Amino acid sequence: MYKEASSDLIELKNSLSDTAFELTSIKYALDEAAIVAITDIKGTITYVNKKFCEISKYSSDELIGQNHRIINSGYHPKEFFQQMYRTIGKGNVWRGQIRNKAKDGTLYWVDTTIVPLKDRAGKPTKYLAIRFDISEQKKTEEILNQTLTKLENSNKELEQFAYIASHDLREPLRMVTSYAQLIARRYREKLDDEAEVFIKYLVDGTNRMQMLIDGLLLYSRTTSKKNTLKQTDLNVVLQEVLDDLKISIEEKHAEIKQGTLPNILADPIQIRQLFQNLISNAIKYNKSQTPIVEISSQESLTDWCFSVKDNGIGIEQDQFDRIFKIFQRLHRQEEFPGTGIGLAVCKKIIERHEGRIWIESYPGKGSVFYFTIPKK
Ligand code: ADP
Repeated sequence: MYKEASSDLIELKNSLSDTAFELTSIKYALDEAAIVAITDIKGTITYVNKKFCEISKYSSDELIGQNHRIINSGYHPKEFFQQMYRTIGKGNVWRGQIRNKAKDGTLYWVDTTIVPLKDRAGKPTKYLAIRFDISEQKKTEEILNQTLTKLENSNKELEQFAYIASHDLREPLRMVTSYAQLIARRYREKLDDEAEVFIKYLVDGTNRMQMLIDGLLLYSRTTSKKNTLKQTDLNVVLQEVLDDLKISIEEKHAEIKQGTLPNILADPIQIRQLFQNLISNAIKYNKSQTPIVEISSQESLTDWCFSVKDNGIGIEQDQFDRIFKIFQRLHRQEEFPGTGIGLAVCKKIIERHEGRIWIESYPGKGSVFYFTIPKK
């Protein structure tokens, strides 16, 4: 009986020593990987590991007994820490990114998890903070954000420039056009045939320039205004576009096939412009057949995907990127008139809606333009 009890005791002792060894190993691994500190519930530091001292540049003697505020950088608002203390005070784990200040004043970012250590009644008695240095990642993030802001600003400036330039060019151009037309009308009898041809070129040129300027204005005005997003019935939008294109549909005897489209959150004016450009191209870029244009949509978990399919001339694969750039055209004016702005506007509209636009096409067979709009 006595013997049995003593062997139980030895087993218990062994198992306790195994647990202690395991705990020491876990602590060793944690200290190797992370910046660790323990504070009491008032925030007074009771333990720091080597990594904590390295990053904060304080010795453990300088830290222990101090309030944790010693490494506060003043970067975060008071509410940030209030929310943190509320969470851990209730015994819940808190996670977040904190900017701290080292002894020499340098700043560093840490990804932090604070785990409340509780007594048997479930009340927090200490807080264990495990941190990882993310200063490099933050630096890269900051550089990326700065670059993005610079890019956005320079884009805005460019759009502004395009807008002002095209707007201011309209007036003198209108003058040239109207005087050329006046000469043609008033001096018709006095001009020889050659002069008449020249004037025709002049008027054609100014008309074309007017179209380019209008396109450029439209392009520069296609900006993102978050508050213009509305719940939009695309069946209504499509019907309006088809009404606007009635003449060219009838002239080319085009057949339009349309599926039922959804109601989505979008800028109705821009989406109308988008369908207008894609459908009018689908009708225009067709040489011999009766144009057949199919408009349909597909729903995925995150997006709506739309397609505008035609049976037209198609495009070579190596031109797929080029056609979405402003003023890029694959045909001469006499073959297919146009400005080369429509698809650039489509791309901008889709980017403004945080979607994607692309093409699948085979020369001689036709093209399908796809675009997505995220459901939000
Ligand atoms: P535009 O039609 O005024 O030239 P776009 O920007 O709309 O300008 O189109 C750019 C070019 O892409 C067109 O000039 C044409 O060569 C090509 N393209 C556009 N849509 C189609 C289409 N549906 N089929 C074949 N080519 C097309």
